[in-house]
Amino acid sequence: MSNTEVISTSFEPGAAVKDGTIPLCVPEFGGNEWLYVKECLDSNWVSSAGPFVNRFEQSLAEYVGAKHAVAAVNGTAAIHIALLVAGLQPDEEVLVPALTFIAPANAVRYAGAWPVFIDIEPNHWQLDPQKVVDFIAQQCQWTDAKLINKKTRRRVRAVLPVHILGHPCDVDALNEIANKYELAVVEDATESLGARYKARMLGSQSAVACFSFNGNKLITTGGGGMIVTSNDAWAERARYLTTQAKDDPFEYVHNEVGFNYRLTNIQAALGCAQMEQIESFVNRKREIAATYNRELRSVGGLGFMKEAPWAFSSSWLYTIRIDKQEYGVDSRTLLQELNRNGIQSRPLWQPMHHSPAHKDSQSFNIEIADAVHRDAVSLPSSVGLNELEQERVISAIRRR
Ligand SMILES: *Cc1c(COP(=O)(O)O)cnc(C)c1O
Repeated sequence: MSNTEVISTSFEPGAAVKDGTIPLCVPEFGGNEWLYVKECLDSNWVSSAGPFVNRFEQSLAEYVGAKHAVAAVNGTAAIHIALLVAGLQPDEEVLVPALTFIAPANAVRYAGAWPVFIDIEPNHWQLDPQKVVDFIAQQCQWTDAKLINKKTRRRVRAVLPVHILGHPCDVDALNEIANKYELAVVEDATESLGARYKARMLGSQSAVACFSFNGNKLITTGGGGMIVTSNDAWAERARYLTTQAKDDPFEYVHNEVGFNYRLTNIQAALGCAQMEQIESFVNRKREIAATYNRELRSVGGLGFMKEAPWAFSSSWLYTIRIDKQEYGVDSRTLLQELNRNGIQSRPLWQPMHHSPAHKDSQSFNIEIADAVHRDAVSLPSSVGLNELEQERVISAIRRR
């Protein structure tokens, strides 16, 4: 079935939408996708072994400049495994930004550990290194070469920067803090494939980073994820844990409880075809963002995510802020209007410190995440968004 044959009002990212509706963020299959998937069916390599899995891992590792890439069934599973290989133990704590999709916070819980939610900074909406420093200074103590949270008595073991909306966090600042307090850094780069920090690709310099290939992400495999690292032992451990921790694959001996987190050859086939187009996808996303920036700059009451001087954003999902006083209506009213007019748009995620799912976790001095969440409106940002469609979005926002 092609996209246009499917009529759906579903808000599922990547789902097909009603004729005439401009989707928020849908995939683009303009390359060898059909060819490679057919190759899987013709060769009977449909499951979790096969040449496309290795090829997809290699092409992603090469693209981001990491030594190893290990495929996983989705981005959430990739983060879960990355936390385990980084040494996270049950009842330890991980510093997680308050403004994120819930997946990284959930992954911390899968490991039996606890997220502590930290605020974002106002310019790029990413985890604020200064607030991490403040949290450590005010809430933690350094005891027996361990960072201990004074309130919970738990060890703070890791920091989990989430590069949201295509823009990188201040990686060097976070790494410096992590080195000082012996924290592991596990990067959630699921929304930011193709982004660079100080000219380095995200994933190239991190201890371990994760990507997602869900339907709405920069490239898609339908569902899928990847763990990248340049640490040989961690890569081997990630592969072991994602494949049921098989110690003797002939006699089926397993020394540990592992996970079935493998990606299939069919999914990887899509991934290989998508990787061949990644440069043009990133360029197109940046063009879309540049057009929105140029055309919306003069509208009163709009706020923009600034691209940091050290950042090359992959501009995954273009998002603006609405100042109710100056713009005239609030973000939720604008969202309703846009969606009623066939322009799919959505708010950002409920900040984690308000999430009932994480009500038992601690949070520290959060204010910016709440303000950005209150004001944010994400706009259509598909690679396939055409000029006329983007003009329609722009004039719908300007009309007021
Ligand atoms: C998409 C996403 C993930 C992973 O999602 P999956 O659907 O499991 O691939 C993780 N973190 C963030 C911030 C995301 O946006």
